[in-house]
Amino acid sequence: MPFSKLGLTDALLKALAEQKYTQPYPIQQEAIPAILAGKDILGIAQTGSGKTASFVLPILQQFQTQGFSKNRHVKALVVVPTRELAVQVNEVFTTLSAHLTNKIKTLAVYGGVSINPQMIDLQGVDILVATPGRLLELVSNNAVSLSAVKVLVLDEADKMLNLGFEEEMTKLFSLLPKKRQNLLFSATLSDDLNNINKSLLRNPLVVKVEEETKNLDLIKQFGYLISEEKKGPLLRYILKSQKIKQVLIFTSSVHRADAVALKLNQNGIDAFAIHSKKSQEGRTEALNFFKKGMVKVLVATDLMARGIDIKFLPYVINYELPRSPKDYIHRIGRTGRAEASGEAISLISPEEEHHFKVIQKKMGKHVTMIDGNAINVKGF
Ligand code: AMP
Repeated sequence: MPFSKLGLTDALLKALAEQKYTQPYPIQQEAIPAILAGKDILGIAQTGSGKTASFVLPILQQFQTQGFSKNRHVKALVVVPTRELAVQVNEVFTTLSAHLTNKIKTLAVYGGVSINPQMIDLQGVDILVATPGRLLELVSNNAVSLSAVKVLVLDEADKMLNLGFEEEMTKLFSLLPKKRQNLLFSATLSDDLNNINKSLLRNPLVVKVEEETKNLDLIKQFGYLISEEKKGPLLRYILKSQKIKQVLIFTSSVHRADAVALKLNQNGIDAFAIHSKKSQEGRTEALNFFKKGMVKVLVATDLMARGIDIKFLPYVINYELPRSPKDYIHRIGRTGRAEASGEAISLISPEEEHHFKVIQKKMGKHVTMIDGNAINVKGF
């Protein structure tokens, strides 16, 4: 089914064509007509499913017919867990609204940067993308009013709860008008999240996009058995011997991400660490450099890597295994996208061996193991 059958205007269709979106993804096919009809949505979907455009397109379309906002009264509010996601979602609003005749002002606000420019930018904003803490700060400074919000989107709601934003979210809900449309997106459904769904959503359309298992076939997976202390030299050996151009490396902690990036730099390999303890400027810069291909290695924690949309990543390396098999699948899913094949390498210490077997069982795939201890990594 083409996008033109979903009831979208020519201006949006033109922007979609420019983005080379030829067919709607399943979540878009289901959610767009329902959102246009004013229904609430519960979307169970991950980054990569196309969930962003599934709410951006109908929101933009609704605004074309509903006119402009009063100053400092936003009409659509998108709440997201991280600054990176805020920027990404705002970019999608901007690109897809390129040809609209009624110009719409969108803005992303997030913490970790100065609040004053955001307060000025909020003048005349129609659609606001925000992280919870900064949004509350702006409200308490009278920089924005939420009393005219017609559509609320909670994006990656599970991650917001994981990050401990429950209190902020409850506070935010109390500031919104009762009559509004609610669109909630989450990769998973926990009990806590179900409570939020129940209090927030009215008779929602539930759209579930299954984890993309088909992609796993495109990913060549290898595990290197290696002692913990030799992981560093083996990593550098792999990066150099396999002529890897770009790679996303996962660690389980902020501290380890920094340590791995530092060691790589000391060994002449360009690497940036990206995690929650980095400044906003540092994170944006690292991501931009990486996206432009100016940096070879990005070392990331799970939380940070989730929202990052990087196309065509050929390699993913797990320096350490994540605790949950789901996270493992999510990590390696960063490669082998868009029908391009990719490679996922895991460095497995003896302590992690059993856990790796559990992951393989859950994933339903056997991973070829290589004896890393037999490789001569001297000098790396
Ligand atoms: P999301 O799940 O919203 O983060 O989107 C994942 C990626 O898919 C983004 O890079 C989008 O630009 C891309 N995308 C979304 N919808 C489509 C579509 N219908 N056709 C092609 N690419 C798309």
